[in-house]
Order: sequence, then C-alpha cells, then structure tokens
Amino acid sequence: MAASSCFRGIKDGIVTRFAPSPTGYLHLGHAASALAGWRLARESGGRFLLRIEDIDPVRCRPDYVEAIVEDLAWIGITPDGPVRRQSAHLPDYRRVLDALSARGLLYPCFCTRADIAREAQEAAHAPHRAPDGTLAYGGTCRALSPRQRADGMRDGRPYVLRLDMARALHVAGGECVTWRERGQGVRTGRPGLFGDVVLARKDIPASYHLCVTHDDAAQGVTLVSRGEDLRPATAIHRLLQILMGWPEPEYAHHALLLDGEGRRLAKRDRALTLRAMRAAGMTPDAVRRAALGEYALHSS
Ligand code: GLU
Repeated sequence: MAASSCFRGIKDGIVTRFAPSPTGYLHLGHAASALAGWRLARESGGRFLLRIEDIDPVRCRPDYVEAIVEDLAWIGITPDGPVRRQSAHLPDYRRVLDALSARGLLYPCFCTRADIAREAQEAAHAPHRAPDGTLAYGGTCRALSPRQRADGMRDGRPYVLRLDMARALHVAGGECVTWRERGQGVRTGRPGLFGDVVLARKDIPASYHLCVTHDDAAQGVTLVSRGEDLRPATAIHRLLQILMGWPEPEYAHHALLLDGEGRRLAKRDRALTLRAMRAAGMTPDAVRRAALGEYALHSS
C-alpha cells in the first residue's frame, strides 16, 4: 500500500487521539487519558481525534459508542473531524494482511487455545511469556507445509493469521526497535519477545495490533498518548510501522489511575464512571480537575 496515497500528515501542531473500545462506560481513567491528549493537541494548535476501536462485535455495543461521545462532550472534549469507527474499515485491514501475506510474513495457525496450552505444558523448557503476560506461541503451525495449510483451509478449520516474527525481524533489519517517548527520550523494545503475534483473529480479519498501527498512520497521528499498560505493545507497533513503511509517531504512556486498593480502574468500577459522577452531582470541572491533577502528560 502506498503510504503517500492514503496518509495525510500535518506540518503544524500535534495530532493526538483517544481510542477507546466501546465495551463499557468511560471512567475517570479514560477521562484522564482523553484530557491529556486533548490538551496537548489544543496547546500545540494541533488536532485531537476520537477513534472507536470496535472490531469485536461480541464485546462492543453501539450504545456505549454514543455514551463515549456524550461523556466526552460533558467534560468539554469535542473531537476534531469525524469519529473513526474501526468496524467500518475492515477492508483496509484486509489489504494490509494481503500485503504482508504476499511478502511471506504471515501464516495461518489452526491451533486452538487448548492446543497452545498443551504445547506449553509439554515443552521441555518453561513456557515463554510475552512482556504483556500472554503465553508466546510455540510455533507449531509455522512448520506446516503449503499443502497442509491448503488442506486445513479447504476443510474449513478456523484459523488465525500470525506474523512470522523471525522473518519480520529479518526484513525489518534487527531484533530491536526504538521509539521516542515524550519527555523521556528514546526507548528500545524487542518485538521477538512476543513470539508470532496474531494479526487476524478467527472471527474477525483484523486484530488490535494491526488496526491500531494502521489507523494511527491513516489518521496522521503524530503523538500516541495512552496508558502505560500498552507500552510493551509499542515494540510490535513499531515493527509493523517499519514493515509497512508507515510514519513513526511519538509516544506518551501515562500512569494508570488506581482504585483505593491499588488496582487499576476498570469498566467494572461503576462508581467511577463519568455517568455515575454526573448522576452524583459532580461538575465537569471537578471531574476534569480530578483527572488532570494526576495525569497531565509531559507537555514538552
Ligand atoms: N482500544 C484500546 C483500549 O481501549 C486502546 C488502544 C490504544 O490506545 O492504543 O484499551
């Protein structure tokens, strides 16, 4: 895919985005994240984009999408330009998968979760965990012959598409990738620690890693601001950007908001949803201050 044909960049001002998955109501942590990116965009004369990451039709709900837009507006955030919904862009992700496939960088994997768990148990060495805590895939299906792959597909066996990590690293030119972390300088990551990551799921011809990197490029995002739980995944995102020739954004990973027991806020924490705070009589200004007091990103 020719980067120049579909990716616009802007010369002045930072382009940030807030990219929630509509699987629940926004809580104070989301507000902090959105406000931090929004302020950086506004202070630099740039743009703040809203992207709805709704490729999972089972977990995502349209009423949550409406609620996200409404709750952001309540705290004074209106995104620039149209709201992008990933579910409307599946053909774009398909094209990226086709491009990577044509370069021999993807392979179909027919393993079930149970197969992967069994393989990990039977391995002579301790199973390898990726930096995000998930079990790294052992690679059984990487070794399938073209004939076995064709047979599996013909028989209608469900499969995911995995990145052949060793090949991808070879094409990218090394084991390590780097990125600029706002206010902290250059960071280094090793995508290989994640193993052969899934780029297309069984039920959806797309995945988080694929969509997020495609869309950041397609939307001309120059600063990816998001929670620090996603910092490790940046290594995979940088690798995909290198493979696809997409521009390199800057990153700003902020600390996550914790509840009274030190656990990160989740959508289950109903009391801290923006809806609940509004219902309890909190003003938008009070919510903004609560969120920003703790989570202002580095502004330089
Ligand atoms: N959609 C992801 C989430 O809700 C965020 C993706 C990102 O910011 O890179 O956790």
